[in-house]
Amino acid sequence: MSQNETVYLNGNYTQKEKAKLSVLDRGFLFGDGVYELIPVYNQHIFYIENHIKRLKNSLDLIHINPSIIEDIKIIDIIKELIIKNNYVNHYIYIHISRGVDEARNHIYTKSCKPTVLIMGENYTPFSKQDIQKGKHAITENDYRWLRSNIKSTSLLANVLIKNKAYNEAAYEALLIRDGYLTEGSASNVFIVNDNVIKTPLLSNKLLPGITRKFLTDLIKKHNLEFSECEISEKDLFDSDEIFCSSSTNPVVPITKLDNMIVSEEAGPISMKMYDYTQDFIKEFYS
Ligand code: PMP
Repeated sequence: MSQNETVYLNGNYTQKEKAKLSVLDRGFLFGDGVYELIPVYNQHIFYIENHIKRLKNSLDLIHINPSIIEDIKIIDIIKELIIKNNYVNHYIYIHISRGVDEARNHIYTKSCKPTVLIMGENYTPFSKQDIQKGKHAITENDYRWLRSNIKSTSLLANVLIKNKAYNEAAYEALLIRDGYLTEGSASNVFIVNDNVIKTPLLSNKLLPGITRKFLTDLIKKHNLEFSECEISEKDLFDSDEIFCSSSTNPVVPITKLDNMIVSEEAGPISMKMYDYTQDFIKEFYS
């Protein structure tokens, strides 16, 4: 299926295998671009306003004019891809690079026209049994740059760190900068302590995850105790529960951290958040 899928590239709808980019595209040469991943549930685009807002912010932070979103009518393109590919439950990537330049040069030409690629990707989220069992995570020094609030395609550090976790049979690496938790290599992190759900404050050190925002909305709706605060490495290891959030798997309980067992299986609040998420998706996207 995936090779014959229709993707959007720079104004054209084309087959995924036929979509081609220039070797002078700055996305390829420098990782000079940003992206967005948006879930589609039952043909509906999830939290679209929040995703578009973050994409515009990422573009703005790397000095690409965010008006491109409206100029090329990105939401209409996503809807068109859902119809053309008959996506029911799927994930849509929007990749925008600074574009093809005249030569390979760090300094970009102001007239560079951004490259826009929009394509689907199929992931199978974890089953409820997997979620209930929980996953293993490792901790790692957060050696990434200090602009991690930009959803940039320059993901080398995240790629290396996620692969380190994978090679240690772990789902995720939780990142520690100067003694404090920032996020995961590809997710945000929540902990639970004495029934209070906590997550690190937004800053330049972590991505403002849309699932983080969604879960925060759910926590407030269900009147659970919640705090956005600094979480030290010690707090992390002392927590009763830990879970990671991302668009592909909104709530992933971590039951083992490095060599420490957090809990035998997913804790009650993590499972509550998982169930609330599934219920919300069923209610609003069916
Ligand atoms: N942090 C990082 C570094 C990520 O790559 C991601 C997305 N995979 C997230 C957090 C979670 O963001 P979202 O909930 O928007 O998918």
